[in-house]
Amino acid sequence: MSDPAGEAKLELKQASKEVKESENVAEKYSAMTVSKNSEMNMGELSSAFSAVPTHKPVKKQIQFVEDKQEFSRFPTKAGRRSLSRSISQSSTDSYSSAASYTDSSDDETSPRDKTQVNSKGSSDFCVKSIKQAEFGRREIEIAEQDMSALISLRKRAQSEKPLAGAKIVGCTHITAQTAVLIETLVALGAQCRWTACNIYSTQNEVAAALSETGVAVFAWKGESEDDFWWCIDRCVNTEGWQPNMILDDGGDLTHWMYKKYPNVFKKIRGIVEESVTGVHRLYQLSKAGKLCVPAMNVNDSVTKQKFDNLYCCRESILDGLKRTTDVMFGGKQVVVCGYGEVGKGCSAALKALGAVVSVTEIDPICALQACMDGFRVVKLNEVIRQVDVIITCTGNKNVVTRDQLDRMKNGSIVCNMGHSNTEIDVASLRTPELTWERVRSQVDHVIWPDGKRVILLAEGRLLNLSCSTVPTFVLSITATTQALALIELYNAPEGRYKQDVYLLPKKMDEYVASLHLTTFDAHLTELSDEQAKYLGLNKNGPFKPNYYRY
Ligand code: NAD
Repeated sequence: MSDPAGEAKLELKQASKEVKESENVAEKYSAMTVSKNSEMNMGELSSAFSAVPTHKPVKKQIQFVEDKQEFSRFPTKAGRRSLSRSISQSSTDSYSSAASYTDSSDDETSPRDKTQVNSKGSSDFCVKSIKQAEFGRREIEIAEQDMSALISLRKRAQSEKPLAGAKIVGCTHITAQTAVLIETLVALGAQCRWTACNIYSTQNEVAAALSETGVAVFAWKGESEDDFWWCIDRCVNTEGWQPNMILDDGGDLTHWMYKKYPNVFKKIRGIVEESVTGVHRLYQLSKAGKLCVPAMNVNDSVTKQKFDNLYCCRESILDGLKRTTDVMFGGKQVVVCGYGEVGKGCSAALKALGAVVSVTEIDPICALQACMDGFRVVKLNEVIRQVDVIITCTGNKNVVTRDQLDRMKNGSIVCNMGHSNTEIDVASLRTPELTWERVRSQVDHVIWPDGKRVILLAEGRLLNLSCSTVPTFVLSITATTQALALIELYNAPEGRYKQDVYLLPKKMDEYVASLHLTTFDAHLTELSDEQAKYLGLNKNGPFKPNYYRY
């Protein structure tokens, strides 16, 4: 039996712990003035980064957790070469924003079987073709144009080198936007080795451009699972170089190091984790008392949540739907399942196109929000026969069941924007009486015996990541957050962060936002002394307590 009162007390306790931590950090970062024009000068930055890293490796021994529990929760992609452990779901979700210009390459030789050397004579990388470097450089320069906040952080902190001595091993999507992050980390003093968190998402030419500048990249589009783990291992396991920081997206790198290189792992100063999945795995480790390194959960930082979940989905849902279906949405009956951040973004976008949007919810607060925003809140079963489009955004499973799919009308579209591909019961559609017809990339017609067709997009995986692009500006926010989290963990004095999972301090979340305000020529109002006293705030922030919901 759950105990709501007990849970509430626990949450309150947790919230107050976060506030205290945030205050400590705020004190140190109070020099990071968010002035009215959102500028921070180098003197301010210098004092913010002046703390000398004093972290000593923790002594606690790592205990292995069961393979089954840690690695096997994620299904192996059918038909691929099997490995001793399965690849994570996030590693196989396709991500076509990273669609490479080099996809049509006829060169079928595995990069592992090639000997390549960059113009400086280094062969410490493994990419599809180093010859694509110049092309990749152009991609990176285009991305830089919409990542001005990250570039401005790079310029401001470049002379301070807050990451001098940092040896960062990274496992993220390797795209032009990530390259801007990696090159920022290098400009701030870090040495980086990088691998891909997803076997499909690497932009080959970008990987080549990074390798050309001396970043050891081990990644290419279309890796096998064996390649995936080989690339991770090549990043970590190299002569004369030992990582001391991890930037991970999905937790695969973290767990590879934890399992394979425990002695290296326990000397890591900090882990920055990007994804829901990876954060979940870190909390599991922490709960089991097995996390021996401080970790920063950047997935739950406010700027990331709002931009990735709400604004990014508001923009990319239409892109994904249009590219795959060419359907006109004006007047269509759309049901959005889940009215959280993602659901709110999707509903708003479709309403703006003139679609008739209804929402399903389990939570009365979110349901009431949907009502206030002008949406009908319905049960899926009540409307299933009339609906033209269903979009799941719940993070839950079996939200659309086989029974409901059976009752949908001919030509209706069903797709998912949530993390997991189990929101729609796609597995139940793989039965002999139903025919699957691939009509386009990422578009299947599932045909019932009476000829009815339901259009399933991206086989129930995340629609926007599978079928559209993600705006660079959103990725700039994520990348800036990651860079600041790495700087904070690397420079934190001993004792500030223990062997636990932390949220990014509020003050730094605000700083990420302030850096991006410049793009819009937005001018913040400054608190007067009197107003600051009245509200009990520091004039330089943080402006909200950690429990504030935005
Ligand atoms: P959220 O928790 O804010 O919202 C989910 C909502 O779904 C909640 O309000 C919850 O009450 C509701 N819900 C749960 N089960 C339900 C059910 N059976 N029927 C109807 N409603 C139900 O989460 P979020 O930030 O909106 O994220 C939702 C999912 O989208 C997560 O899986 C997240 O990882 C993923 N996500 C996707 C993208 C993307 O680019 N596509 C970006 C960020 C997050």
